[in-house]
Amino acid sequence: MATTTDSLSTLRSIDPKLAAMLDHEAERQDSTLEFIASENHTSKAVMEATGSWLTNKYAEGYPGKRYYGGCEFHDQVEDLARDRAKELFGCNFANVQPHCGANANIAAFMALLQPGDRVLSLPIAHGGHLSHGLKPNFSGTFFEIHDYMLDAETELLDMDHVRDRALECKPKLIICGFSAYPRVIDFAAFRAIADEVGAYLMADIAHIAGLVASGVHPSPFPHADVVTTTTHKTLRGPRGGLILSNSEDIAKKIDRKVFPGSQGGPLMHVIAAKAQAFGEALDPSFRTYQEQVVANAKAFATGLTNHGFRLCSGGTDNHLLLVDLRNRDAELTGAEVESWLGEAGIVVNKNGIPNDPRPPMITSGLRFGTPATTTRGLREAEMQQVADWIERVVASGGSEASTIREEVRTLCTRFPLPH
Ligand SMILES: *Cc1c(COP(=O)(O)O)cnc(C)c1O
Repeated sequence: MATTTDSLSTLRSIDPKLAAMLDHEAERQDSTLEFIASENHTSKAVMEATGSWLTNKYAEGYPGKRYYGGCEFHDQVEDLARDRAKELFGCNFANVQPHCGANANIAAFMALLQPGDRVLSLPIAHGGHLSHGLKPNFSGTFFEIHDYMLDAETELLDMDHVRDRALECKPKLIICGFSAYPRVIDFAAFRAIADEVGAYLMADIAHIAGLVASGVHPSPFPHADVVTTTTHKTLRGPRGGLILSNSEDIAKKIDRKVFPGSQGGPLMHVIAAKAQAFGEALDPSFRTYQEQVVANAKAFATGLTNHGFRLCSGGTDNHLLLVDLRNRDAELTGAEVESWLGEAGIVVNKNGIPNDPRPPMITSGLRFGTPATTTRGLREAEMQQVADWIERVVASGGSEASTIREEVRTLCTRFPLPH
């Protein structure tokens, strides 16, 4: 049985059907290599807090200003989470209540904008996030979205182009921070453009928060007016969101727009887990981990490039890489290779590449990230090994997947999960 199962003893006796599903998932996580760039394996301590009795309590409001009695310990927990978040990111204000990254963005939009205001962002097809203006999302429904694109040749941000677009559409808000961009973001350059057109700057560091917190990627402070993030990607905390700022005025609005603006009661068990995760991230070992995440991504990039795969933008400076499969074989699709790799126990997601001719459910690319496997302890040598497996899977048209599955299983037993 998987190592997490000892915490399910009650559930297993009462509801064996549900417990079996959870056991199977534990076994899947144990025995596969997680290369989805937005995922990670949290510590056992983070899981304990998430699974705690804090789930039983309503704590609408903020510490010292609750709408329910009995919140004295919840106040302590939320204050601890806020203080650690501020220390970690070097800022004056933190709201730890957003249930997820998208919710953090809803509150940030509501704090900075009126419905119908203009927003300038990178579209999802170029590596942006759906909460930055996709039509069916709240952002695309209630705001006037304008976009900037990646350079067609280099697949990099072109700050002259961003500036031209900002001068054209005069946005009230410019968003930077992405879901599939493998390079460093120049926050100061975004700030200069925002200043020139009189826009707010929001940095959504959902993917790179762990790199930022440990100084491995430059900080969006002091440049951004608002910083939003998830807590469960490189930051390695529980599933959740976080909003940061240095402006007292914006901070007040953010608090109002999280609650009562867009959420009800906070998930206090998750906020306790955020406090624990922020504490872990403040430890010097977290920087070592993040440095290894980037070193592993670079080693993996080298391995794939040597096998003839083309990487968008030519490589990576952070935790993720975007592979253009067409270079290897014009017929290959992201959907197909995702499924072959899944059979081999290498879990990834298909992802559109910039100017992808194929639709989002097919795609010509794959996105890989190293945060989760680095948490397990994989290093450069194992990254090379995984790149070799990917080559074998692709070269065999998927037929070697089941053989490789056993090799992946063996590797996984050498690198047990943290819980
Ligand atoms: C993942 C992500 C989010 C949203 O996070 P959820 O917790 O899934 O809502 C927001 N912005 C960016 C850039 C992301 O990558």
